[in-house]
Amino acid sequence: MTTIIDGKATAQRLLDEVAADVEGLAAEGVTPGLAVVLVGGDPASQVYVRNKLRKAEAIGIRSFEYRFDAELSQAELLDLIERLNRDPEVNGILVQLPLPAHIDEQAVIQAIAPAKDVDGFHRQNAGGLWQGLPSLAPCTPTGCLRLLQEACGELAGQHAVVIGRSNIVGKPMAALLLAADCTVTLLHSKSREAAALCRQADIVVAAVGRPGMVDADWLKPGAVVIDVGINRLEQDIDGERRTRLVGDVDFDGVSRVASAITPVPGGVGPMTIACLMQNTVSATRLQRRQAAASAPA
Ligand code: NDP
Repeated sequence: MTTIIDGKATAQRLLDEVAADVEGLAAEGVTPGLAVVLVGGDPASQVYVRNKLRKAEAIGIRSFEYRFDAELSQAELLDLIERLNRDPEVNGILVQLPLPAHIDEQAVIQAIAPAKDVDGFHRQNAGGLWQGLPSLAPCTPTGCLRLLQEACGELAGQHAVVIGRSNIVGKPMAALLLAADCTVTLLHSKSREAAALCRQADIVVAAVGRPGMVDADWLKPGAVVIDVGINRLEQDIDGERRTRLVGDVDFDGVSRVASAITPVPGGVGPMTIACLMQNTVSATRLQRRQAAASAPA
């Protein structure tokens, strides 16, 4: 029997934990604050931002929303980041990606104060993750790790194959699995024998952006599969043109071979938002510790 990993249920449990943590901070007179910045009108980004803001409010995190049209200049965006870095009511800063082409994404990411970098993309957090230092880790791979811990129990010694090496998902996923004592193989577009390497895996994390790329032939029977991909397919359904969300994994075929698999939607997506809330609370605590350490004795 293949287990369909219920990302929504796991995300709700995590959100309950985070909400309890937020209550604990409220008892100390502190309300975590999350600033979300959206530039341009990308429809998917609008949905992501709305969901993040709603979830923050629902668990008692104060949210600050900054929406701009696509013409905003890089200098104006950097000015805003600088202000948010200094604002004591803002504990987390998230700039929704992708940004318009005239803005240098890296310049913006690196301008965010590392202690407020709740996306975990700043080089200080990315490097800290690989070196095993306390750091804010990217939300999507952190969510995948939690799903894997619940699905597999002990991860030590398992062979994990991660497909995709982006800074947002693939690389930090590899770092987190390595930190959990997995043996990690990281595949990318230049990898040879991707299917054969994947067939050796106990755990497969697919983060590519190619619908149905991983099929049943890529898997060892009993492998656990996490499908990060979100692909929008335009299809005729009941005579109507509709958008269907699918992952990077051929769900029907793979679920006959895998021991556990995440669906799309309802798998990794809800975990990403829950981990963002967790990072906002972690960032708040980190800033309080930093403030206490720098206060005069
Ligand atoms: P990127 O486009 O940044 O990275 C894709 C990666 O896939 C690259 O490293 C690329 O390799 C690799 N790749 C491309 N083709 C192949 C191939 N044939 N074989 C092996 N590897 C290949 O995407 P992201 O990492 O940002 O996102 C990946 C997917 O995850 C997307 O569908 C995205 O929408 C989804 N996503 C979902 C989230 C969620 O919350 N569920 C959050 C973030 C992303 P190379 O480096 O060589 O080009």
